[in-house]
Parts: sequence; structure tokens; C-alpha cells
Amino acid sequence: MLTDNSVGPAGTFPGFSGPHAPHDSDLYKCVHCGFCLQACPTYLETGLEAESPRGRIALMKAVNEGRLDMTPSVIGHWDLCLQCRACELACPSGVEYGKLMEATRAQVEQHTKRSFTLRTARSIGYKTLLPSPTKLRLAGTALKLYKKSGMRTIARGTGLLKLLPGDAELVDAYLPEISKNFFVAKGQVHTAQGPRKAKVAMLAGCVMALTHAKTLDATVRVLTRNGIEVHLTAGQGCCGALNTHSGEPDSAIEMAKKNIDSFLSINPDAIVSASAGCGAAMKDYGELFASEPEFANKAKRVADLTKDIHELLVEYGFAAPSKPLNVKVTYQDACHLANVQRITEAPRTILNSIPGLELIDLGEAAVCCGSAGTYSLTQREMSARLGKRKALNVVATGADIVATGNPGCAMQLDFALTQLAHEDSSSRTTKVRYVVDILDEAYSLE
Ligand code: SF4
Ligand code: SF4
Repeated sequence: MLTDNSVGPAGTFPGFSGPHAPHDSDLYKCVHCGFCLQACPTYLETGLEAESPRGRIALMKAVNEGRLDMTPSVIGHWDLCLQCRACELACPSGVEYGKLMEATRAQVEQHTKRSFTLRTARSIGYKTLLPSPTKLRLAGTALKLYKKSGMRTIARGTGLLKLLPGDAELVDAYLPEISKNFFVAKGQVHTAQGPRKAKVAMLAGCVMALTHAKTLDATVRVLTRNGIEVHLTAGQGCCGALNTHSGEPDSAIEMAKKNIDSFLSINPDAIVSASAGCGAAMKDYGELFASEPEFANKAKRVADLTKDIHELLVEYGFAAPSKPLNVKVTYQDACHLANVQRITEAPRTILNSIPGLELIDLGEAAVCCGSAGTYSLTQREMSARLGKRKALNVVATGADIVATGNPGCAMQLDFALTQLAHEDSSSRTTKVRYVVDILDEAYSLE
């Protein structure tokens, strides 16, 4: 959480500046109509103007014009934004809120000093682990050992976590399940079954390759089953989304460059991502390189070629499974799929193609689940509130499975459903799965 980040006495902030500053044309597009308020999860939860898109934009303008300093309180309102971009869908004036908030967060990092603990955590996360797949896998292995070897039980039982600096207890509670085998891209080629429709480069990603490796294996099977040749190009890594959303555009650019060169090395027909957040970030690579024109063309090409897995399957055509899978499923729209990539139909088309599967509408499907990258760690109270809200909606459907298309949502849903079962002393019955996992299972019955 933020502590010592004020910039000086009142009235001293010089306004937004630097290559990643919000543009006036974006900042002054908002006409304060308020149509976005009811779409905003933090406004729905608090009823406060300062926790709404309109309120946050008003704060940006006031700070930019020197009427307000970038105080911890102002930054706190920006930090509580999930960057879910539901407000963009509701806005009749076309305010690109996501772009504004990313640029504002870069200003916060540029002009303020976070607490020592937060600076250290950010440096380890954004500048050491995420840019290096090897270091990330080492961290994943360490986590696996910590959870499986009994060290976690000891740390919890002895109260050691309480003695550690920062939010060690919280981090421990949110530790995700780590896959038995990691998904590693090192130049493998998976040939298409039957006539080849396309050759694609596939993103392995960072966290998903450690936590949902089986889903990435399923993605390869589903693609090749449908005539797509899959290349896991060497040299790729994290897409940079977490860095971009957290005000670290320079490190995001360096990470994106590696991916761009890796993917384009095979001259693909498309680039596919099984993670909504990563696909959304790669579709924005053109914007990310606005200040680096020499790389911008390549970045734009990757952005244009990028497809979400559901989008790609529907566009190239996929075989409907022939054997029934008798399950009740509800579908959770990942914000970066629905609000950013504007893809809502393709996942539902895939689920509806499976014989025997009953798709049940989810209440408040458009409200963010509270995952939002590192939000569940940095804004734990609001994240937990939204997680519970989502879990209650999921349970109300009576579905056996809640399906999604994003690792952050999958982990948050898992955590929130388990917490809800704890709270009412019931046993949890709803499973969390990716759409592509369900399709893969349906194919396996043939
Ligand atoms: S991005 Fe989401 S949380 Fe942030 S202001 Fe918009 S709707 Fe609200
Ligand atoms: S809907 Fe758009 S123009 Fe209206 S207040 Fe919200 S951001 Fe501003």
C-alpha cells in the first residue's frame, strides 16, 4: 500500500510531463456526462464520485493543471481503479480511459517515491522476474517447493509470516497453484492435423506458463486438431501487460521487443494468445511504440496479427465436438477480452457448439471479478469484495463449471469460490476452467 509518496508542498506539482504523459487530447475529451458511472465496479461498490471514471479523470486534470498536488490521497483513488475498462464501453464520447490511466500511473512512478517495501517488490516483480522466463521459472520452482515440502505449513504454524516485512501473510494466502510441468517455448513446431489452414506463433506467457501449463497444452491440441500449425517461437517471454498497467512502460517496451522479434521470425499468419490480458496487451503494441518510430512498424504488424484463441478458432473455423459433454457451464467475461478486445460471442459460440453442454447466463457478467493483474495483492479489500460479488453470482447459476479465458480471472475465481465456501461452511462444488480446456475435453471423448 502507498505510504510516503507525496511530491512536496501544495501547489508545487509542475503538471504531467515526459514521453509517456497523458495527451491533452485524451484528457480533455471527457464531457462529464456520467454515463460511465454505473459500469464502474469501484463506483458500484462505494458510490463515491472519486472512485468513478469521471472522478478519476477530474483528478487527472486538476493535477495536470497544478490545482492539486499528486498526494497519497489522489494517488489512492487512481490506484483503486482496476483498469477493467468497462467505462470505455459505456462512454459515448470515446474517452480512451485505459490509455489515460496507464499514462497517469507512469507519471506517479516518475514523480513520487513509493515506500521501500513497495519499491523493492516492484523492482523484483517488474524488472527482475517478469522480463526473464528463466528467473520466473526458478521462482515458480521455489514456490512449488515451498507449498509441497511442508515449509508453508511451518511458516503458517509458527507465525513466521507475521514477522516478515510487508504483506507476507497476504502474499502467502494468494499463492497460486503451480503446474507440475511448466510450459516452455523453445522453438517447438506442432504440425496441423489434416490440411494446414494457417501457421501461427503462440505466446506461452509468464504466469500462465507456470500456473496453467495444462491449458496451454490443451490450446496446442485444440489448434492442431483444427488444422493450425503451432510454433512456440524461441526468445519470447512475458507480453509486458503487468508492467504497462503499473506505470512501467520502459521495461514493457523492452519485453515487447523480444516478443516482436521472436514471433516475426517465422513470418506467421497469426499470433495467438490463450490469455485475454496478454492478447489485449499485444494488440496495443503499436501504441506502446509511439515514441520509438524505428520499431513501430514491426510492433504494428504484431498487433495486427494477434488473435485471442477464441477469436482465432471462430475465424479459421473449428470442428464442433461430436460426443456429448453433459455439464452446466456459466461463462465469465474477462475484462480484457470483453471490454478491451470486444470479444464476447466467440467463447460462447465455442461452448454452445459442444453437445450436451448447457450454457447458463451469469448475473453481472460485465462486472470485473477483482483480479486485475497485481490488484488482488495491492488493493486486497476491494479485490476481495469484487471476488465475493462474482462468486455469489457464479453460485447462483447452479453451474458445475465457471469458464473463463484469462489466468488472472481463473485464479481469482478459484480463490473467491473457496473463500465463499469457507464463509458459509459449505463444500465448494463449482469448478473453474478455461473454455479451451472444455473444448479439449469434448474432443477427447471422440
Ligand atoms: S477502468 Fe474499471 S475500475 Fe477503472 S474507472 Fe473504468 S470502470 Fe472503473
Ligand atoms: S461517459 Fe465518458 S464522457 Fe461521460 S463522464 Fe464518463 S468518461 Fe467522461
